Amino acid sequence: MTQMGLQAFDQLKKEKPISSDGEFNRAAQCIVTELTHGLGQNWEVVVFDDNTLNAFALPGAKIGVHTGMIELVDNQDQLAAVLGHEVGHVMARHSNERASQETLVQQGMGMIQQTEFGQNPLIMGGLGLGAKYGVLMPYSRTHESEADMIGVDLMAKAGFNPEDSVKLW
Ligand SMILES: [Zn+2]
Repeated sequence: MTQMGLQAFDQLKKEKPISSDGEFNRAAQCIVTELTHGLGQNWEVVVFDDNTLNAFALPGAKIGVHTGMIELVDNQDQLAAVLGHEVGHVMARHSNERASQETLVQQGMGMIQQTEFGQNPLIMGGLGLGAKYGVLMPYSRTHESEADMIGVDLMAKAGFNPEDSVKLW
């Protein structure tokens, strides 16, 4: 799963424009560093220049967040809620659980589709293919709740205000 995550992330970095906004990049990196402190991996975060609301995390300690998502949030705590939630999906190994149900996962589709809001063209492509074959599904509500719990825990431990997760969602 880690290898697939790394491949999918490399592919996204080649295909999607990356933001050079210094403030956005510093904020995202700082928040991710604090959230993942103590998880034993050096998480990479990339800000993609895309005004749609999206963020995702992949096995291999990779995180992507769109500029649209950063523009939406009111403060660092709300961005920490988004990113903590995404890290939660990876920590709980949700993609592994999905992979066991997906025959197309070896093509990486399951990884690419691993985002929250479904507005990324790549993601929609994945959903379209998934719908065609009837195998790719979004995260279940159970997975979303689990990621929420982990994310709130991570943000609280890192010193962010968990109450802002409620405002955000
Ligand atoms: Zn989620």
